[in-house]
Amino acid sequence: MSDLRLDATQLDRYSRHVIMDEVGPEGQKRLLEGSVLVVGAGGLGSPAIQYLAAAGVGHLGIVDDDVVERSNLQRQIIHADGDVGIPKVESAASYVTALNPDIDVETYETRLTTDTVEDIADGYDIILDASDNFATRYLLNDYCALTGTALSHGAIYRFEGQITTFTNDESNAGVDSSEPSPCYRCLFPEAPEPGTVPDCATTGVLGVLPGTVGCIQATEVVKYLLGKGDLLEGRLLMYDAMDMSFETVEIRQNPDCPVCGETGAIDSIEEVSYEGTCQVTHAE
Ligand SMILES: [Zn+2]
Repeated sequence: MSDLRLDATQLDRYSRHVIMDEVGPEGQKRLLEGSVLVVGAGGLGSPAIQYLAAAGVGHLGIVDDDVVERSNLQRQIIHADGDVGIPKVESAASYVTALNPDIDVETYETRLTTDTVEDIADGYDIILDASDNFATRYLLNDYCALTGTALSHGAIYRFEGQITTFTNDESNAGVDSSEPSPCYRCLFPEAPEPGTVPDCATTGVLGVLPGTVGCIQATEVVKYLLGKGDLLEGRLLMYDAMDMSFETVEIRQNPDCPVCGETGAIDSIEEVSYEGTCQVTHAE
């Protein structure tokens, strides 16, 4: 793909990228050669997939094991009323193909587990976590931290969202270039007890909220593929839709982190029980 040239249709389609110095034909080629695995084709995944496809990210993987329900349509805008009852990966892939024939879409109608994550995620440039549960979030964090894979994190709750980016690249330091990059467990070493944090099915979520958060994740992924700009590496962006406020807090690598810390309690995803609190389970 290194000799990939933009054809006339692509020069037209991506013209607003091509004319910018920060993207240009070279940057557009990078996007077309890029690969992103989006985990979850729901509230966060919908806008992320739409914008990544529109931007010309050439290879998109989509993981989801759910079917479209009518109650999803208030926020999961890649699916339409006529898609109710069909697998989300199928509905999302149809949308992408209709939007941009340049995109090669691979669908995985399954839930990521310790047994499947490697086969599915291997080879992607970056993973966009658009999942809605702690088991998947911690599994992806640990897999990405241990394999040095870049990860975009996004989460939502009622009227609030949070976003950060973990490049998991030792050469790519955090905010202060002398600092190593953190991971999600540096912030939250273990998931809360099951049942203590309600999900959006039980508490509700403002429909447009995941749109904002998913778009910020897509922005980070596009910047990562282009190698341009400052990522949310070592920074957690917190968005409050009610106050319409954005706040950024610095996050640091935790020397006691079970994955990326000095103790290294987790050497392999096989050692963790991802249902429950995502604790290390290996025998003493
Ligand atoms: Zn860590």
